Amino acid sequence: MKVLLTSVFGPYGVDDEYGQASCRMELFHNQVTREQGVFSMRFFHESFGLHFLAENISVPTTVLDFPSEARFVEELRRGYDLVGISFIVANFAKAKRMAELVRRHAPHARIVLGGHGVQIPEVAEEIPHDHLCVGEGVRWLRGILGEDPKAPIRHPIRPATFGGRILGVPVKDGSGHVMPGLGCPNGCRFCSTSHFFGRQYIPYLETGKQIFDLCVAIERALNVRRFFVMDENFLQHPERAEELLALMEKHGKTYRFNLFSSAENITKVGVDFLVRLGVVSLWLGVESKFEVYDKNRGVNFKTLVNDLRDHGISVLTSAILFLDQHDHRTIWEDIRFIVGLEPDLIQFMQLGPVPYTPLYRGMKATGRLLENVPYRHWHGQERIWFQHPHFKADETDRILTEAFRYEYDTLGPALMRMCDTYLRGYRTLASTRDPFLAGRREALKRRAGKFRPFLAAARDHAHNETARELVGRLTDEYNDVFGRMTLRQQAQSQVVRGFAAREARRVAAGRNVYQPRTIVTHYGR
Ligand code: SF4
Repeated sequence: MKVLLTSVFGPYGVDDEYGQASCRMELFHNQVTREQGVFSMRFFHESFGLHFLAENISVPTTVLDFPSEARFVEELRRGYDLVGISFIVANFAKAKRMAELVRRHAPHARIVLGGHGVQIPEVAEEIPHDHLCVGEGVRWLRGILGEDPKAPIRHPIRPATFGGRILGVPVKDGSGHVMPGLGCPNGCRFCSTSHFFGRQYIPYLETGKQIFDLCVAIERALNVRRFFVMDENFLQHPERAEELLALMEKHGKTYRFNLFSSAENITKVGVDFLVRLGVVSLWLGVESKFEVYDKNRGVNFKTLVNDLRDHGISVLTSAILFLDQHDHRTIWEDIRFIVGLEPDLIQFMQLGPVPYTPLYRGMKATGRLLENVPYRHWHGQERIWFQHPHFKADETDRILTEAFRYEYDTLGPALMRMCDTYLRGYRTLASTRDPFLAGRREALKRRAGKFRPFLAAARDHAHNETARELVGRLTDEYNDVFGRMTLRQQAQSQVVRGFAAREARRVAAGRNVYQPRTIVTHYGR
């Protein structure tokens, strides 16, 4: 028995019969910093779920990530008994094409379809397959392979990102991937993750000790001390985070974490706890001032974001546009509200009714879905695919772009805001006598030092007066707080300017999409 697990084929982020230029593989460049030109932050994430599956079955398995169509066919010819294809809704056409290729080039292989795309109603009829994996995949896959679904879970050791570039400078992939669990019980009506896993939290790492031991193992293997925590709402289980912190303090480990968390859980544990824990960035779902979910009730976001940034924690707030409460006036009220929070980063996403969510079911039942819109448009970064009481679908693309540009014009480049956050956090912790917090302060200083050589290039490419003022202020304050740049930093600064100039030419020429390299990983051989 041989298993092949694959993501969909590229190229990505181009207009062709399978995809769109507005659906890119780079997370931030797709939906966070996409209108920030040369300042857009570029990196890729592996299809971590495929590695998780491969690590937890005992048969020889190949993970093929980001193949071309030809590379996928080449791999099929190596003789597999089971081929798993993972896809999101927007990649329906790619998954269909790949399943057809499996039937042609590996006719004896069973096909498993997995990922958020599998609940599209047409999948059953239109995509050749033998199995559909809905929900948690590890135990399910073990089941169809005749293995013990309840065997202990093994967590793969993988880097969190690759192919990073900041202002055109290739940056080292410096963090590991940690996935404590899947799903979220909150069940916000639009949330595909929560509903895909049946509004349950499915833990893989149930204790702080398990997470700590994993971090130690990743540190040893990859030489990293920063971790991207792939868990929709990590702080929902504060006792786990508390145990993790206690072990870090006991063993003198100043690990750092990028987290997703709802506001209610941040306010429960408090900002001081997050600083001790080593949280360096938080993805926070603000959503809208007009549709307030339980997780956000009573939260003063302005104060919260300010407090987090004052403690050196970068904040990404996410917002939803084209709610029913939005008309041409109120949508801008919401955009100004989100921008007015002054976070480091903002994700604007169009309301997107994807199959199996209550939002989708409600729109389907009331005939509001634009059923003739191909699935490759269903990704939230182009135009809506439902009837809105106040907007035509073909104006939503422009308004989304204007929201991103308004943010960029008003707050300046996200990269500079993050440099500001490092400095603010360093100042807040400047006088601490607590040795563990002093470690946190020194980490912020190192981070600030790492990005300081980017300031000169940022000044070269600042696109308006606000951005120029921000860069100028930061340059002065960095000089005040950290003293003159070292000779090494001065040299780096010139190198960054060279890379940034080249990147700016690339962006200006319209070549503003990078493709991930194909990654082939073998398990159990
Ligand atoms: S709190 Fe976040 S992860 Fe949980 S259901 Fe709501 S949007 Fe989804």
